[in-house]
Amino acid sequence: MPTIKCPGCGQEIKFFLIENAYEGPLKCASCKGLFKVSIEGEELKAWQPMTEEELKAGQEIEALKAKFRRTPRSD
Ligand SMILES: [Zn+2]
Repeated sequence: MPTIKCPGCGQEIKFFLIENAYEGPLKCASCKGLFKVSIEGEELKAWQPMTEEELKAGQEIEALKAKFRRTPRSD
């Protein structure tokens, strides 16, 4: 399992990638920091601090997307 270093505290975070690249929220269990990260392979390419509000908004969008994916096509 790849690990990346938390941008906030340097703690290594085990990170399971379904795909080779990931862009989205990452929460550090050590410093409780919340970051929007861009990961390619095992490398942290970019990151920026993120608020709980932004995380929630993003999760709502993802939930909506999932809902649409599950909707059977009518044609
Ligand atoms: Zn941290």
